[in-house]
Amino acid sequence: MTLSMSRAFLLAVTLVLTLAAAFAAHAAGQPLVVYTARKYQLVDQLFQEYGRERGIEVKFVTDDGAPLIARLAAEGRNSPADLLITVDAGDLWRATEAGLLQPVKSPMLEAAIPAHLRDPQGHWFGLAVRARTIAYSTARVKPAELSTYAALGDPRWKGRLCLRSGKHAYNQSLVAMMIGDIGEEAAERVVRSWIANLAAEPFSSDTLMLKAVAAGQCDVAITNSYYLGRLQAEDPAFPVQIFWADQGGRGTHVNVSGGGVTKHAKNRAEAIRFLEWLASPEIQQRFAAVNYEFPANAGVPPLPTVAAWGSFEPNLVNVGTIGRTQPAAVKLMDRAGWR
Ligand code: FE
Repeated sequence: MTLSMSRAFLLAVTLVLTLAAAFAAHAAGQPLVVYTARKYQLVDQLFQEYGRERGIEVKFVTDDGAPLIARLAAEGRNSPADLLITVDAGDLWRATEAGLLQPVKSPMLEAAIPAHLRDPQGHWFGLAVRARTIAYSTARVKPAELSTYAALGDPRWKGRLCLRSGKHAYNQSLVAMMIGDIGEEAAERVVRSWIANLAAEPFSSDTLMLKAVAAGQCDVAITNSYYLGRLQAEDPAFPVQIFWADQGGRGTHVNVSGGGVTKHAKNRAEAIRFLEWLASPEIQQRFAAVNYEFPANAGVPPLPTVAAWGSFEPNLVNVGTIGRTQPAAVKLMDRAGWR
């Protein structure tokens, strides 16, 4: 190698290194883009905090799960999204089936999040646990009268049960889980027995339904526990309590708000780092607490208000399986007249 050749080589190396450094600096400053079905007021503060900590901008778009998934599919490889966050495991399952998420191997996430709350291949990870269980009037119902979801179809609850709309994903996921557990015929019998016991037309929200229990329109209901958490925070004397369904059986139905890295993420490393940050103990506590949910990270305690409902055994079937049986659940509920 002549002197001039080696100088040219050095120059070339220097140029490559400079470009690499410039690129790395650019990559570190690249925004992280999140499509989130978890509501603005539940994510804004934490997302901004992560951005400040990392010196990047965290941009996010909020919408329901289905339109966000449709948008990801339509955008294909041109999508700016790095991460999809939903409030239903069925949505995460559908996004995975549609090839919109990519597998992530993270020992940290695998250690932090229990196996039934994440995709075995790492396409998505649950970040907050929402339990859908029985709520009852403390004025008119004794907890000893309660046991399973199915038992809400007993004649003793005739004209005393309130439900949210059957069009909502939370109920569709509950029925989907039931189909997986006991089969479609048995699940349909249960749903029909509930419809026969309704005290009122199904409600448009869990909150309105819980207020109907408090007001005496009905005595029992099936709700996500965090909606009661919000009402109890506003009014500690709110006359409705949580009962953990199916203890001693399959366990209480849980679903997750969780996220996965998109197939065409431009900022993959940052997206994984962000998921790991969200799964870390301190952030887990806050991520769940803003909505009276349970941290997905099993080592992290929930808020005292939430802990006051007592501990419960969750149904340990992987929450992703909800997605597979949801279409059958939707048809079943329609047949059974759950409006
Ligand atoms: Fe909700």
